[in-house]
Amino acid sequence: MKKNYFLILITLFFYLGCKEKPSIIEEDPALKNLGDNVYLHQADMAVEFRVAQGELEFWNSDNGDVTKLTSTVCKKFKDDFDFIIVVLNNAEVPKSSNYAGLFTSIKNDIKGIGGGIYDFSANYGTGKSLKGIVTLPAIDFIKNGPLLHELAHYNAAYILPMYNIGKDGKQINHYDHWGYSDAGGQMGGFKPEFVTSKLDGEANKYQAGYKNKEDGFGVTSNGRNKIPYSKIELYLLGLIPKTEVPTIKVYSGLSLPVGETRKGVFYATEVKTYTIDDIIAINGERLPSVENSQKLFRILTVVVSNRPVSQKEWETVNADIEWFTKQADDGNNDLYNYWEATGGRATIKMDGLKGSLK
Ligand SMILES: [Zn+2]
Repeated sequence: MKKNYFLILITLFFYLGCKEKPSIIEEDPALKNLGDNVYLHQADMAVEFRVAQGELEFWNSDNGDVTKLTSTVCKKFKDDFDFIIVVLNNAEVPKSSNYAGLFTSIKNDIKGIGGGIYDFSANYGTGKSLKGIVTLPAIDFIKNGPLLHELAHYNAAYILPMYNIGKDGKQINHYDHWGYSDAGGQMGGFKPEFVTSKLDGEANKYQAGYKNKEDGFGVTSNGRNKIPYSKIELYLLGLIPKTEVPTIKVYSGLSLPVGETRKGVFYATEVKTYTIDDIIAINGERLPSVENSQKLFRILTVVVSNRPVSQKEWETVNADIEWFTKQADDGNNDLYNYWEATGGRATIKMDGLKGSLK
């Protein structure tokens, strides 16, 4: 019997082996055509969505036809994905683009993070799993763009009124980034240890920074994938308990000193301090809590292109996905993948798309 099995196996192998070769030569080896201009790349980490030139230009200048993309691409797959990342096939950010990254909210059922409970999935033709869409305007932006920042827009920063300074020098309300506060992290702001008060001996004058006291800070971000999430961001992501969150100081009554050349220097007439219990009193407890929160997120990456994506472009996208989802330190202190940014507390899975095909 053993011999017979062996023979059958050899025959089968030979048969399949011979049979396979011509079909590989005849078909495009890299892409599986899913129909409707959607192609799955053989690396099984992303799909290509081919669009007309005008449609790509719409994506390049605004957020594009998101509904067309979601309703076309999502019907090829089971409802397995938490986020879609749209990568526009541009070598660099086009001049027409006014963004380095965008987040489109679709659904939220997490309590206690501000921003409310909502579900727009019917408008996008998506299932119950999809929470939002990140749009990145250049082919290498999974690694070199603000992906950690855009993903965090799902959870932050909606818990407190924040403030910024408008172009006219007057204070404006700013709700979805950390602005002039010491919540410093992916969503902007500075670090409490890098704040100098009474600068130049003036009562309301401050200098603040994210990495040190001299280099200032960003009101909306602090450098793409170059920094990890802050404590309050990790709490809002459901990855640390409230006991690990420090107090947050929010500065208001803002203005800029005239002729100031040093970075991060501003006037503030009021500083409000919020403990995590104050934040919970305003927004409620984060539910699900850190014990029950989601720790594994699945992402469907869609490369939007007006022509077939080249092998070199696929290599960039696939290598960037491998880097972003690697569950280990990448050895580069200047860049943070998701595992590093969350301190190994959560995982992103972007491969294995074939297993989710309908
Ligand atoms: Zn933002």
